[in-house]
Amino acid sequence: MNGKKCIEVDVLPRRNSRPICNCCEKPAPLYDSLNKRRFEFIPLWGFSVFLVYLMRRVQCSDCGVRIERVPWARGKRELTDTYQQFLAHWAKKLPWKEVAASFHTSWEKVFHAVEYVVQWGLEHRDLSNITAIGVDEIAWRKGHKYLTLAYQIDAGKTRLLWIGKDRTVKTFLGFFRFFGEQRSQALKFICSDMWKPYLKVIEKKAGQAIHILDRFHIAAKLNKAIDEVRADEHRQMKKAGHEPVLKNSRWCLLKRKENLAEKQEIKLKEILRYNL
Ligand SMILES: [Zn+2]
Repeated sequence: MNGKKCIEVDVLPRRNSRPICNCCEKPAPLYDSLNKRRFEFIPLWGFSVFLVYLMRRVQCSDCGVRIERVPWARGKRELTDTYQQFLAHWAKKLPWKEVAASFHTSWEKVFHAVEYVVQWGLEHRDLSNITAIGVDEIAWRKGHKYLTLAYQIDAGKTRLLWIGKDRTVKTFLGFFRFFGEQRSQALKFICSDMWKPYLKVIEKKAGQAIHILDRFHIAAKLNKAIDEVRADEHRQMKKAGHEPVLKNSRWCLLKRKENLAEKQEIKLKEILRYNL
């Protein structure tokens, strides 16, 4: 094909076998034969490989005249299921352009292969027994454009469950609509950052779950609180005529106790004695 050498493998139906109806997937009497179709298989020794098959039609008692169902490909796809799985497997490891170049195929075919495998996976995935989820946002493109991502984070099973555009209340409500009320009510733990729209939706849709806030934001809030208390104490001490020992002591207060130099430790003890 296109001047390129390829391997063509003729596929013949078993003698006297009854074709399968593509619609109801039951065997049915043969109606007629159509044209030959080529289905692309995994390349071998650098050659493209095609299965060549004369498609038949069935006279199905339930569905009428239908095309037959073949076990190696779905619908009108040119690629065999095996080849699509093969391309999707490599598309996980390499940029899609690289996959296309490596196996002498097009970017579009790699894209359709991934689409097919993802679709199959979504249709067959099991969403039972999810007790812990996490939500986070990622920036995409330039300018403040975000996606909301929801993950399952149960021990031993972490996976991406859902992606939504933006990071609004409406976005995250979309996750719970997809997830369903029953599953949402069965959630025991939800982990998120302190982004207000997420907090609102979590309270509304899964208020029974223990809500865990991420460490980064808690630490940031805690640092801010310490800073405020320290500044306040400093002002009061200065007002009362004390030496302003708390000034520039923020890092001292935040440091681990075992890491403090002796001098700093004494200073801290003094502060504790007089201020707390
Ligand atoms: Zn049928």
